[in-house]
Amino acid sequence: MEGIEEVMPQLLERMQAARANATPKPKKPSADDFSDYDCHVCKDEGIVFDPERNVCYRCECLERKRLARILKSVNMSEDAMYKTFDRFHLDGLDPRVVAAYELAREYSDGLVARAKKGKDLKGVPWFGLLGTSGSGKTHLVTAAVAPLIEYGIHPLFFNWVQSFTEWFAHYNDPDGAHKVEEIRQRIYNCDLLVVDDICKESQKDTWVKEFYGIVDYRYRKQLPIVYTSEYYSELIGFLSKATAGRLFECTKSPKGKRYLGQMLLAEGEDPLALDHRFKELFM
Ligand SMILES: [Zn+2]
Repeated sequence: MEGIEEVMPQLLERMQAARANATPKPKKPSADDFSDYDCHVCKDEGIVFDPERNVCYRCECLERKRLARILKSVNMSEDAMYKTFDRFHLDGLDPRVVAAYELAREYSDGLVARAKKGKDLKGVPWFGLLGTSGSGKTHLVTAAVAPLIEYGIHPLFFNWVQSFTEWFAHYNDPDGAHKVEEIRQRIYNCDLLVVDDICKESQKDTWVKEFYGIVDYRYRKQLPIVYTSEYYSELIGFLSKATAGRLFECTKSPKGKRYLGQMLLAEGEDPLALDHRFKELFM
């Protein structure tokens, strides 16, 4: 497999182009619903034959698949390309969501300005986005960090449930210990760690302990973490005062600006009030 460094320049071009022209994926025609092919144009051959002109050409799915492989290596999902600020529609949204959007954008601009000057991210404030399910947390943090890739800064995505599950599964591998440590070092030392949905679904002791190590290490090395969670004060109980306190404390800039966005429900508020998927119901 190609190294990320080698393919990064081309990837950036592709990503930029794709982010500029991205349209949501068309639904597959129903005739293909039962097909096993990822690409119904070339049937996964990578080559398409045009009988009219009697020529073969490379199927455009090859490029799509290549990009997907590279995004996978930084743990970004393919739809990260569609999660830009411009695609986050603010019309009719709750002021809490609009404020979080503006904060994310401001934070992102700060990092990008720094990256443009060729500086690394050491010592920048962390960014936290606390919000109820469906409020757009993942979209906003993705939009905030993805532009950095263009400047050689690679955010590493860590999804609380999925990544911990995959990571800890290596404990059962024959050469698991090596793999576990390799992943740990990557999480510890990456340019920018993005932890999505802290404490979602599970707060296993082993995960919480491992997470303490991550937060503590990155705090001491002044390496930023961008994170989201459905919880706020509950994080203190789930994670410990030390870990949660650090997560909150580090969102403060040297000038005292707090990069901790909140899209949380008030007590007794309709649980769907901040959920985009149900927005129409409230308009
Ligand atoms: Zn194809």
